[in-house]
Amino acid sequence: MTTFRQSHRLRNVRYDVRGPILTEAMRLEAQGHDVLRLNLGNMRPFGLEADPEIVAAVTAGLDAAQAYSDSRGLPQAREAVADHYRRQGVGAVSSDDVFLGNGVSELITLTLQALVNPGDEILVPAPDYPTWTGAVHLTGGVPVHYLADEANGWNPSIDDIESKITPRTTALVLINPNNPTGAVYSEETVRGIADIARRHGLVLLSDEIYEELVFGDARHHHAARAAGDDVLCLTFGGLSKSYRVCGYRAGWVVATGPLEEASDLLEGLTLLANMRVCPNVTGQHAIPAALGSERSPETVDPGGRLEHRLAHTAAALNAIPGVSCVAPRGALYCFPRIDTEMYGITDDEEFVVDLLRSEHLLVTHGTGFNWPEPDHFRIVCLPDTDVLDRALASIADYLARRREA
Ligand code: PLP
Repeated sequence: MTTFRQSHRLRNVRYDVRGPILTEAMRLEAQGHDVLRLNLGNMRPFGLEADPEIVAAVTAGLDAAQAYSDSRGLPQAREAVADHYRRQGVGAVSSDDVFLGNGVSELITLTLQALVNPGDEILVPAPDYPTWTGAVHLTGGVPVHYLADEANGWNPSIDDIESKITPRTTALVLINPNNPTGAVYSEETVRGIADIARRHGLVLLSDEIYEELVFGDARHHHAARAAGDDVLCLTFGGLSKSYRVCGYRAGWVVATGPLEEASDLLEGLTLLANMRVCPNVTGQHAIPAALGSERSPETVDPGGRLEHRLAHTAAALNAIPGVSCVAPRGALYCFPRIDTEMYGITDDEEFVVDLLRSEHLLVTHGTGFNWPEPDHFRIVCLPDTDVLDRALASIADYLARRREA
C-alpha cells in the first residue's frame, strides 16, 4: 500500500493555538461539554462587533465582489492603506507598494517565500506569533530566536538581537504591539531595532496588526518611520484585530524605504500575489470604510472594555500563588509565568491539556509561541469580566488541586 506523507518542509512547522489542544477541546465538545475557548484572539464570538459602517461597506460591495480584483488588491483599498500610513507620518507611501492579502497570515507566508533562501537566518522574537517561525521553516530558512525580556516589560534586548546576527542573517522580525506578551515597544526600542537593520543591511519585517490596540499611556511607534529612507521595511497590518473583523481576512503588507534596491524582491512578491490570483474581494471592501477616517479611542475600544479586561485578567492572575503576569499594554492577551516547581509542571502542553480536561477551559501553552521554557501560558482576555472571573477561578482551583496532588 502506498502511504501519502507530508513534505519534509513541514517537519518543524507548528501552529499550536489550533493544534492538538484544539482537537482535544473539540473532542470534549462532541461529548457534550461546554468548553470556554480562550485560545484565539477572535472578537465576534465574545460579542465584540465591528463598526456598522464597515459591515455596510462589505454588504454594498458584495455584487462587485463577484469579480477577481487586481492581484495586489482593489486600487481604492490599497490607496486607503497608503493614506493611512501617510497620515501616521510614515512618509511617502504609495499604493503601488501595498499588497493586500487574506489576512496578515497569508502575507507572512508569501513574503517569506519571496525573500528567504534555504539556510538564510531570520531573527524572530521569542515568544512570537507562531506563524512567523512556522513560515520561516516552510522556506527552508532558519528562525533564530531573540529573547524578549520579561523583567523589562517583555521588551526585546537590543544586545541579544545584535549578538545573534551572522553573515547568513537576512531579516529581522518584530511584533509590536506584541502577541502573546502585550508589550508595546518604546520609541527608543523601535529605533534601536531599526538601527540594527540599518547597520547590518537587514530587511525589517514589522508585524503591527495590533497597531491601534494600545492602552493607558502606551503609544505605538511604526518601525517604518524609524527605518526611514534607508532601511527596507515591510509593515504588516490588517483589520482583524483593531477593527474586529477577523473573518473578513483583510490584511496588507506595505513596503517602504529604499524601494529601488528592493525591486527584485517586490517583483517576486508580485509573482506570488499573481499566482494566488487575488485576496478574497469581499473583505477588501471593508478596508476603505475602516481606514477612511481618524478613529477616536472610543471607536477603537468602546467603553474601554478591552483595556479593562486586560488589566482585570492580569490582576487576577497575579493574585494566584506562583503565578505572575506583566500587565499587558496592548493587544488582547496575558502571558503569565507559572512556578513550574510549585505545580510540578515539566511539559506545558500536558499542563494545558490537563487543565482543559479538568476545567473545560482552553488556553495555549507558552512553548506554542516558541518560548523556550514550559513556564508560561497565554490566555485571551476578550470575554466580559464575569466570564473571565469564572475562568480565572477555575485556573486557581485547578492549580491548588495540582499543588496538593
Ligand atoms: N500577526 C499577529 C501578531 C497575530 O496575532 C495574528 C493573529 O492572531 C496575525 C498576525 C494574523 O492575523 P490575520 O491573518 O487575521 O490578519
